Amino acid sequence: EGQDALHALTDGFHLIIDALKLNDINNIYNVPGIPITDLGRLAQAEGMRVISFRHEQHAGYAASIAGYLTKKPGICLTVSAPGFLNGLTALANATTNCFPMILISGSSEREIVDLQQGDYEEMDQLAIARPHCKAAYRVLHAEDIGIGIARAIRAAVSGRPGGVYLDLPAKLLAQTMDAEEGRRSLVKVIDAAPRQIPEPKAVERAIDVLRGAKRPLIILGKGAAYAQADATIRNFVETSGIPYLPMSMAKGLLPDDHPQSAGAARSLALKEADAVVLIGARLNWLLSHGKGKSWGQPGSKKFVHIDIEPREMDSNVPIDAPLVGDVESCLEALLAQMGSNWQTPPADWTGKLGERKETNIAKMATKLNKNSAPMDFHTALAPLRRIIKDRPDVILVNEGANTLDLTRGIIDMYAPRHRLDVGTWGVMGVGMGSAIAAAVETGKPVLAIEGDSAFGFCGMEVETICRYNLPVCVVIFNNNGIYRGTDINPSGGSDVATTVFVPDSRYEMMMEAFGGVGAYATTPDELDQAVRQALESGKPTLVNAVIDPAAGTESGNIGSLNPQSALTKK
Ligand code: ADP
Ligand code: MG
Repeated sequence: EGQDALHALTDGFHLIIDALKLNDINNIYNVPGIPITDLGRLAQAEGMRVISFRHEQHAGYAASIAGYLTKKPGICLTVSAPGFLNGLTALANATTNCFPMILISGSSEREIVDLQQGDYEEMDQLAIARPHCKAAYRVLHAEDIGIGIARAIRAAVSGRPGGVYLDLPAKLLAQTMDAEEGRRSLVKVIDAAPRQIPEPKAVERAIDVLRGAKRPLIILGKGAAYAQADATIRNFVETSGIPYLPMSMAKGLLPDDHPQSAGAARSLALKEADAVVLIGARLNWLLSHGKGKSWGQPGSKKFVHIDIEPREMDSNVPIDAPLVGDVESCLEALLAQMGSNWQTPPADWTGKLGERKETNIAKMATKLNKNSAPMDFHTALAPLRRIIKDRPDVILVNEGANTLDLTRGIIDMYAPRHRLDVGTWGVMGVGMGSAIAAAVETGKPVLAIEGDSAFGFCGMEVETICRYNLPVCVVIFNNNGIYRGTDINPSGGSDVATTVFVPDSRYEMMMEAFGGVGAYATTPDELDQAVRQALESGKPTLVNAVIDPAAGTESGNIGSLNPQSALTKK
């Protein structure tokens, strides 16, 4: 009889797991601990894939990239207070980047937290999370878990995607209720991210701008990549005949060697275009806010802006033709109006861009083919560029300063959503989380090109890579420091300069420590061989690529963002 009664009950643990599974969410990125250790265990027992990390920030970055790659919210599971705060950085980053993710954190007893009586890991997590995400919810009763998870999923993926916080007090997890009632309380979310069809008048306005343009330009952003509208985007670009620029994570949406890519003539294209179509790309700092020197004469351009978020319009410059809707629906509407005999842009515009492209590509080739010893960024990137050309299925993860800027410019991408990087914030330390999620979610091999400093923020996760035997090859561009490894302490004291690391660090031994493969490369040939072998074998590998410590520049391409003291000489 007691046995029967037990069978007829369910509890918070099981309801959370059942609610996630019911909504086709099958992966959890977590760091175990009180009070969620058993939640992870039970989720694994119930057939979910639970990937345990060494630090919550990286579990969170992984969840956000899982969301970006799949259009389903990535789940990060953490303990209370400090674990929650570690995960919160990733939640804020996800929200900033418009990646759908749910941070689920266990929390302490409400009664004690609210009276501030000093509980184990006491913190008012809901209040702290709220300004850093799209929505924040707390569930107090087992019968509300289904609704709570449904709301979290819908908030994360509908409209502009983003981060959601879900607070689960420890007490909730063990709460029991009738199993059948529990089952009925779960919600399968129907049409979580409905299409958003643009207003027909807005479509006409956009078509008018395009018809009147002599030097049109398309800019593809990571919102376009996220939309998974790859065929429609390609159709729009090719039917319109308009040259395009991919933002960093939109590279590969169309192959970078596409004849209409203006990537190698970026500054000319931005400066001289007279009409710009933004597709899932914001006019934030990454595009100089749509104004200033890089955008040519003030008032010389008309803007068409396609975005799912109405409030993005006019955020930095006036938008002549705001087109609010999802990328696919907006482009379908434009294509329907363009018809079959659309006038492609004048040849003097496309020809001018083509010439500039050729010149720049030739200049780049000279730098790539140099035989420098030690390697500099260009000569180290040359073999990796060929590898991605041979293996377009490989997902490229990339972070650093010079390592980021130069990899982005040099390595062509050939497939959508195959380049994952530092995103809107330009944050360091996303590399290992992104690499792990990319491998877990897609099963594809991953090549992570990391500055030595960027790697330092997340390096311990190489153990996670080894533990799950993921096909990840990490290449560290090791120039002994942040930007460069050659600075000296200006005071003459015995401490090294603030931007310098232990010279000739043997990072590859970190991978060997956990059973992975380590390699040391001082020439482009050695680097080529080590990476090809890693991708071939699928074994966790870390290649320490030794770069000239003098090769970097301060802050890479964004040195102008460094405030300068007027009182000291550089
Ligand atoms: P990038 O950094 O590549 O320029 P951003 O992150 O700045 O890209 O911009 C992405 C934009 O895409 C955001 O403004 C977001 O609202 C928008 N977006 C995301 N998903 C969609 C979608 N399915 N349809 C339309 N816009 C989208
Ligand atoms: Mg460095």
